[in-house]
Amino acid sequence: MIHYVDTHCHLDLYDSPADIATEAESAGIYTIAMTNSPSVFEHTLQLAAGRKFVRAAVGLHPQLVAERSCELAQIWPCLDKTRYVGEIGLDYCDTTDTVRQTQRQVFSQILEKSAQFGDKVVSVHSRRAVVDVVSMIGSRYPGTVILHWFSGTTSELNRAVSAGSFFSVNHQMLKGQKGRDLIAGMPPEKVLTESDGPFTKIDRNIAGPTSMPRIVDELSSIWHIDPEQARDRVFGNFRQAIQPRLDAETKLLV
Ligand code: MN
Repeated sequence: MIHYVDTHCHLDLYDSPADIATEAESAGIYTIAMTNSPSVFEHTLQLAAGRKFVRAAVGLHPQLVAERSCELAQIWPCLDKTRYVGEIGLDYCDTTDTVRQTQRQVFSQILEKSAQFGDKVVSVHSRRAVVDVVSMIGSRYPGTVILHWFSGTTSELNRAVSAGSFFSVNHQMLKGQKGRDLIAGMPPEKVLTESDGPFTKIDRNIAGPTSMPRIVDELSSIWHIDPEQARDRVFGNFRQAIQPRLDAETKLLV
Protein backbone atom coordinates (compact mmCIF):
# COMPACT_ATOMS: atom_id res chain seq x y z
CA MET A 1 0.00 0.00 0.00
CA ILE A 2 1.09 3.53 -0.78
CA HIS A 3 1.50 5.54 2.36
CA TYR A 4 1.14 9.22 3.06
CA VAL A 5 1.08 11.00 6.36
CA ASP A 6 -0.78 14.01 7.75
CA THR A 7 0.98 14.73 11.02
CA HIS A 8 -1.16 17.72 12.00
CA CYS A 9 -4.88 17.78 11.28
CA HIS A 10 -7.72 19.13 13.43
CA LEU A 11 -10.22 16.38 12.69
CA ASP A 12 -12.64 17.53 15.38
CA LEU A 13 -13.03 20.96 13.78
CA TYR A 14 -14.39 19.81 10.41
CA ASP A 15 -18.13 19.88 9.77
CA SER A 16 -18.18 16.07 9.54
CA PRO A 17 -15.18 14.77 11.48
CA ALA A 18 -16.14 11.11 11.12
CA ASP A 19 -16.30 11.43 7.33
CA ILE A 20 -12.80 12.91 7.20
CA ALA A 21 -11.51 10.15 9.47
CA THR A 22 -13.15 7.53 7.26
CA GLU A 23 -11.62 9.06 4.12
CA ALA A 24 -8.17 9.06 5.71
CA GLU A 25 -8.64 5.47 6.84
CA SER A 26 -9.79 4.15 3.48
CA ALA A 27 -6.99 5.97 1.67
CA GLY A 28 -4.44 4.56 4.16
CA ILE A 29 -3.23 8.01 5.14
CA TYR A 30 -1.69 8.15 8.60
CA THR A 31 -3.38 11.02 10.37
CA ILE A 32 -2.50 12.51 13.71
CA ALA A 33 -5.52 14.39 15.00
CA MET A 34 -4.56 17.44 17.03
CA THR A 35 -6.72 18.80 19.81
CA ASN A 36 -6.66 22.44 20.88
CA SER A 37 -7.87 21.71 24.37
CA PRO A 38 -7.95 18.59 26.55
CA SER A 39 -11.74 18.90 26.85
CA VAL A 40 -12.11 17.64 23.25
CA PHE A 41 -9.56 14.83 23.56
CA GLU A 42 -12.06 12.08 24.46
CA HIS A 43 -14.21 12.96 21.47
CA THR A 44 -11.15 12.81 19.20
CA LEU A 45 -10.05 9.53 20.75
CA GLN A 46 -13.47 8.16 19.76
CA LEU A 47 -12.89 9.33 16.19
CA ALA A 48 -9.66 7.35 16.13
CA ALA A 49 -11.14 4.28 17.82
CA GLY A 50 -10.97 1.15 15.70
CA ARG A 51 -9.09 2.92 12.93
CA LYS A 52 -5.64 1.74 11.91
CA PHE A 53 -4.40 5.00 10.47
CA VAL A 54 -5.85 7.66 12.75
CA ARG A 55 -4.48 8.68 16.15
CA ALA A 56 -5.60 11.32 18.63
CA ALA A 57 -3.18 13.81 20.19
CA VAL A 58 -3.80 15.74 23.39
CA GLY A 59 -2.96 19.43 23.49
CA LEU A 60 -3.65 22.95 24.62
CA HIS A 61 -3.21 25.49 21.83
CA PRO A 62 -1.08 28.53 22.77
CA GLN A 63 -3.77 30.89 21.46
CA LEU A 64 -6.23 29.37 23.93
CA VAL A 65 -3.85 29.31 26.88
CA ALA A 66 -4.85 32.75 28.18
CA GLU A 67 -8.46 31.70 28.70
CA ARG A 68 -7.99 27.98 29.29
CA SER A 69 -4.83 27.52 31.32
CA CYS A 70 -7.13 26.13 34.03
CA GLU A 71 -7.58 23.05 31.80
CA LEU A 72 -3.87 22.21 31.97
CA ALA A 73 -4.23 19.50 34.63
CA GLN A 74 -6.80 17.72 32.45
CA ILE A 75 -3.97 16.86 30.08
CA TRP A 76 -2.06 14.63 32.49
CA PRO A 77 -4.46 11.63 32.56
CA CYS A 78 -4.80 11.84 28.76
CA LEU A 79 -1.04 11.30 28.40
CA ASP A 80 -1.59 7.69 29.46
CA LYS A 81 -3.96 7.18 26.54
CA THR A 82 -1.92 8.47 23.62
CA ARG A 83 1.62 8.76 22.41
CA TYR A 84 0.87 12.01 20.57
CA VAL A 85 0.87 15.51 22.03
CA GLY A 86 -0.40 18.62 20.21
CA GLU A 87 -1.26 21.21 19.48
CA ILE A 88 1.07 22.88 21.95
CA GLY A 89 3.69 25.62 21.75
CA LEU A 90 4.00 29.39 21.83
CA ASP A 91 2.40 32.14 19.75
CA TYR A 92 3.78 35.65 20.21
CA CYS A 93 1.57 37.26 17.56
CA ASP A 94 -0.44 40.11 19.16
CA THR A 95 0.16 38.91 22.71
CA THR A 96 1.05 40.73 25.91
CA ASP A 97 4.05 39.85 28.04
CA THR A 98 1.73 38.38 30.66
CA VAL A 99 0.06 36.08 28.15
CA ARG A 100 3.44 35.03 26.76
CA GLN A 101 4.59 34.19 30.24
CA THR A 102 1.49 32.04 30.84
CA GLN A 103 2.09 30.32 27.50
CA ARG A 104 5.67 29.52 28.52
CA GLN A 105 4.57 28.14 31.89
CA VAL A 106 1.96 25.89 30.26
CA PHE A 107 4.28 24.77 27.45
CA SER A 108 7.13 23.96 29.81
CA GLN A 109 4.90 21.86 32.06
CA ILE A 110 3.51 19.89 29.11
CA LEU A 111 7.04 19.34 27.78
CA GLU A 112 8.26 18.21 31.17
CA LYS A 113 5.45 15.69 31.69
CA SER A 114 5.77 14.45 28.10
CA ALA A 115 9.51 13.98 28.52
CA GLN A 116 8.89 11.65 31.44
CA PHE A 117 7.35 9.12 29.05
CA GLY A 118 10.42 9.12 26.82
CA ASP A 119 8.66 8.46 23.52
CA LYS A 120 6.03 11.17 23.10
CA VAL A 121 5.71 12.75 19.66
CA VAL A 122 4.95 16.46 20.05
CA SER A 123 3.55 18.73 17.33
CA VAL A 124 4.58 22.27 18.12
CA HIS A 125 3.32 25.70 17.08
CA SER A 126 6.00 28.43 17.09
CA ARG A 127 4.64 31.55 15.38
CA ARG A 128 6.97 34.50 16.11
CA ALA A 129 8.35 32.46 18.98
CA VAL A 130 10.82 30.04 17.40
CA VAL A 131 13.78 31.06 19.55
CA ASP A 132 11.90 30.45 22.79
CA VAL A 133 10.27 27.26 21.51
CA VAL A 134 13.59 25.77 20.44
CA SER A 135 15.42 26.78 23.60
CA MET A 136 12.65 25.46 25.84
CA ILE A 137 12.60 22.08 24.07
CA GLY A 138 16.40 21.93 24.15
CA SER A 139 18.40 19.23 22.45
CA ARG A 140 17.75 16.46 24.92
CA TYR A 141 13.99 16.03 24.63
CA PRO A 142 13.65 12.23 24.72
CA GLY A 143 11.02 11.82 22.03
CA THR A 144 10.19 13.37 18.69
CA VAL A 145 9.65 17.06 18.05
CA ILE A 146 7.73 18.12 14.95
CA LEU A 147 7.66 21.86 14.33
CA HIS A 148 4.39 22.48 12.56
CA TRP A 149 3.89 25.33 10.02
CA PHE A 150 7.39 26.68 10.61
CA SER A 151 7.58 30.36 9.63
CA GLY A 152 10.77 31.62 11.24
CA THR A 153 13.92 33.09 9.76
CA THR A 154 16.76 31.14 8.20
CA SER A 155 18.87 31.43 11.34
CA GLU A 156 15.93 30.25 13.45
CA LEU A 157 15.52 27.34 11.07
CA ASN A 158 19.18 26.43 11.53
CA ARG A 159 18.73 26.53 15.27
CA ALA A 160 15.77 24.16 15.07
CA VAL A 161 17.67 21.86 12.71
CA SER A 162 20.60 21.68 15.14
CA ALA A 163 18.16 20.65 17.87
CA GLY A 164 17.07 17.71 15.72
CA SER A 165 13.49 18.81 14.98
CA PHE A 166 11.29 17.50 12.23
CA PHE A 167 9.18 19.95 10.21
CA SER A 168 5.65 19.34 8.97
CA VAL A 169 4.90 21.26 5.80
CA ASN A 170 1.43 22.32 4.64
CA HIS A 171 0.02 23.80 1.47
CA GLN A 172 -0.10 27.35 2.80
CA MET A 173 3.67 27.28 3.35
CA LEU A 174 4.20 26.20 -0.25
CA LYS A 175 2.30 29.14 -1.72
CA GLY A 176 4.87 31.89 -1.27
CA GLN A 177 8.54 32.10 -2.22
CA LYS A 178 9.58 32.70 1.39
CA GLY A 179 7.94 29.49 2.52
CA ARG A 180 9.36 27.52 -0.40
CA ASP A 181 12.86 28.85 0.30
CA LEU A 182 12.52 27.83 3.94
CA ILE A 183 11.37 24.35 2.95
CA ALA A 184 14.27 24.05 0.50
CA GLY A 185 16.58 24.87 3.41
CA MET A 186 15.18 22.11 5.63
CA PRO A 187 17.14 18.86 5.72
CA PRO A 188 15.11 16.60 3.36
CA GLU A 189 15.29 13.77 5.89
CA LYS A 190 13.46 15.94 8.44
CA VAL A 191 10.49 16.98 6.31
CA LEU A 192 6.98 15.64 6.98
CA THR A 193 3.58 16.64 5.57
CA GLU A 194 0.50 18.08 7.26
CA SER A 195 -2.82 19.62 6.28
CA ASP A 196 -3.48 21.71 9.40
CA GLY A 197 -7.03 21.28 8.16
CA PRO A 198 -9.55 22.73 8.32
CA PHE A 199 -7.42 25.89 8.56
CA THR A 200 -5.77 25.61 5.14
CA LYS A 201 -7.17 25.47 1.65
CA ILE A 202 -6.05 24.00 -1.66
CA ASP A 203 -7.73 25.54 -4.72
CA ARG A 204 -10.51 26.96 -2.53
CA ASN A 205 -11.22 23.56 -0.98
CA ILE A 206 -10.54 22.90 2.66
CA ALA A 207 -7.44 20.73 2.93
CA GLY A 208 -7.34 17.44 4.80
CA PRO A 209 -5.49 14.13 5.00
CA THR A 210 -6.38 13.26 1.39
CA SER A 211 -4.57 16.43 0.24
CA MET A 212 -1.20 14.90 1.15
CA PRO A 213 -0.36 13.58 -2.35
CA ARG A 214 -0.65 17.16 -3.63
CA ILE A 215 1.78 18.43 -1.00
CA VAL A 216 4.21 15.62 -1.79
CA ASP A 217 4.04 16.62 -5.48
CA GLU A 218 5.00 20.17 -4.52
CA LEU A 219 7.87 18.87 -2.40
CA SER A 220 9.09 16.75 -5.30
CA SER A 221 9.48 19.89 -7.41
CA ILE A 222 11.37 21.69 -4.64
CA TRP A 223 13.64 18.67 -4.25
CA HIS A 224 13.95 18.02 -8.00
CA ILE A 225 12.98 14.38 -7.65
CA ASP A 226 10.02 12.27 -8.84
CA PRO A 227 6.79 12.44 -6.85
CA GLU A 228 7.15 8.73 -6.01
CA GLN A 229 10.62 9.35 -4.59
CA ALA A 230 9.32 12.31 -2.61
CA ARG A 231 6.49 10.18 -1.26
CA ASP A 232 8.91 7.44 -0.19
CA ARG A 233 11.21 10.02 1.37
CA VAL A 234 8.45 11.63 3.43
CA PHE A 235 7.08 8.30 4.55
CA GLY A 236 10.59 7.10 5.43
CA ASN A 237 11.03 10.28 7.47
CA PHE A 238 7.80 9.54 9.28
CA ARG A 239 9.00 6.03 10.12
CA GLN A 240 12.13 7.59 11.60
CA ALA A 241 10.08 10.16 13.49
CA ILE A 242 7.95 7.59 15.26
CA GLN A 243 10.63 4.96 15.73
CA PRO A 244 10.68 2.46 17.29
CA ARG A 245 6.96 2.30 17.71
CA LEU A 246 5.90 1.63 14.13
CA ASP A 247 4.82 -1.94 14.67
CA ALA A 248 7.39 -4.23 13.06
CA GLU A 249 4.87 -6.75 11.76
CA THR A 250 1.96 -4.67 10.63
CA LYS A 251 3.96 -1.54 9.78
CA LEU A 252 1.13 0.38 11.40
CA LEU A 253 1.20 3.36 13.66
CA VAL A 254 1.13 2.54 17.36
MN1 MN B 1 -2.98 23.55 13.99
